[in-house]
Amino acid sequence: MSSLKVQNIRAPRGNELTCKGWIQEAAMRMLMNNLDPEVAENPDDLVVYGGIGKAARNWESYHAIINELKELENDETLLIQSGKPVGKFRTHENSPRVLIANSNLVPAYANWEHFNELDKEGLMMYGQMTAGSWIYIGAQGILQGTYLSFVEAGKKVFGSPDLTGKFILTGGMGGMSGAQPLAGKMAKAVILVVEVDRKRIDRKMKEGYCDYICEDLDEALDKVKELTEKGEPASIGLVGNCADIFQEIHDRGIVPDIVTDQTSAHDPRNGYVPSGMTYEEALQLREEDPDKYERLSLETIAKHVRAMLALQDAGAETFDYGNNIRHYAKEQGVENAFDFPGFVPAYLRPLFCEGNGPFRWAALSGNPEDIYKTDQLAKEMFKENQALVNWIDMAQKMVEWQGLPARICWLGYGERHKFALKVNEMVASGELSAPVVFGRDHLDSGSVASPNRETESMKDGSDAVADWPILNALVNTSGGASWVSLHHGGGVGMGYSIHAGQVLVADGTKEAAEKIERVLVSDPGMGVIRHADAGYSRALEVAEERGVHIPMKK
Ligand code: NAD
Repeated sequence: MSSLKVQNIRAPRGNELTCKGWIQEAAMRMLMNNLDPEVAENPDDLVVYGGIGKAARNWESYHAIINELKELENDETLLIQSGKPVGKFRTHENSPRVLIANSNLVPAYANWEHFNELDKEGLMMYGQMTAGSWIYIGAQGILQGTYLSFVEAGKKVFGSPDLTGKFILTGGMGGMSGAQPLAGKMAKAVILVVEVDRKRIDRKMKEGYCDYICEDLDEALDKVKELTEKGEPASIGLVGNCADIFQEIHDRGIVPDIVTDQTSAHDPRNGYVPSGMTYEEALQLREEDPDKYERLSLETIAKHVRAMLALQDAGAETFDYGNNIRHYAKEQGVENAFDFPGFVPAYLRPLFCEGNGPFRWAALSGNPEDIYKTDQLAKEMFKENQALVNWIDMAQKMVEWQGLPARICWLGYGERHKFALKVNEMVASGELSAPVVFGRDHLDSGSVASPNRETESMKDGSDAVADWPILNALVNTSGGASWVSLHHGGGVGMGYSIHAGQVLVADGTKEAAEKIERVLVSDPGMGVIRHADAGYSRALEVAEERGVHIPMKK
């Protein structure tokens, strides 16, 4: 199988087709883009981000998917089951070209133990959220959401979105977590990110996401002190294990202003790293004795959360950043692990009530100019939204391209389709040099059930109701999204989430415009109706103001 491995995958650029239509071409390019070494964390093992979040089950499946996409007709639909192509049927031109189901298990079997057995047998794959659904765009994909979370935390605690002179402490500098250093700096704070694998920090230094690297806590804290006193925004990566470092910072009586964590705690076996040994020793133990590794990893998670709780008690604004760390700590006997909230109920739910979430688009041309033109359009169309305009200006200055040029831009109900229609016109007129794909994270307003994350503390207690993401996938399929995915376990691990994704290709045609008007209305609309149904007044107002039909309004 390893002989099938492809080094340095890079999606084709430009406007020449290698497939039989732009939708198939877009799916192929976005799959390849997910595995571009500029984009993926570990492309050799097909791992895109988030622990072992993969784009295809194995190299044989990868090649089979590419071949199928090249042969796929404009009235056919390819079926992907946990990263492997399993069938193709004639559907019709307005159907999705690809339907994807990743990592789904019957609820009573939905745990890591069962999944890991099937994974080992080659029967399943962990798709995370945007890894197996081919719409990951590198660290930028989470950058704006991370920035928004820091800014909202600032507003809540200090009454200002400006974090100048403030100290953020967090962990993890991998695929998604690697957005933290830049997001903290964008919010004008000094951010210290503890990461056990030095290579990950080196990579973020090269990509311009991190300013300094330290091997030693004293040196790192001196730097924090110096920079906060000067009011100079900066990011520092510290090589170390979060559990040890967070505890040590607490023991020294230092209280950061904001504390969070984004290590891959959702997967104690293949993601999180235990303390008490070097990183190399940990990797060896993971290989040789995975049960022992997992036990030590869970113990470390408990220590890590205890330290976060102690820092919270000492006065730090502390929140969980979507990796289910509180759950695993509670399982280890940390009874009060849920004393600090998740980032969604703490800061982001009001946006979800408006159907707002991490919308993004990528230029299939590979030409950054295409993205700059769409940036300009977004700034003109939403000029009254100063935060959005600032965001685009900052992103242009500070975000390096990874793979195909792309832009993350949180837009809500009523905004996404209007924007995409204009972009479709720009593709039709030749103003943009090739089609554009529109997609979003599965972490969106109406596409996920995840009681320890996106749907934590819902007003009506419906946190674990998973009908919503399933309806989301079904309505987006009915509306003719280009590809639709339904996954399990993303973000928080097996058993704790069900979520859906969709991607839509704007190729400049009339048919694309019609699909945009259907899918980019129903998709954020699912967020509005989900939150209105749970009794959120802002969602009910948005439904009223923007004309979202809800049959049994409360
Ligand atoms: P990743 O696996 O690419 O990176 C995680 C990093 O954590 C790695 O670099 C790893 O070396 C480091 N790490 C692990 N244990 C550590 C420890 N004890 N101390 C210090 N460093 C440690 O994963 P990712 O894509 O960065 O995602 C991180 C987590 O965030 C996952 O749990 C993922 O599911 C979750 N996530 C959250 C959001 C969100 O919006 N909040 C979005 C995507 C992913």
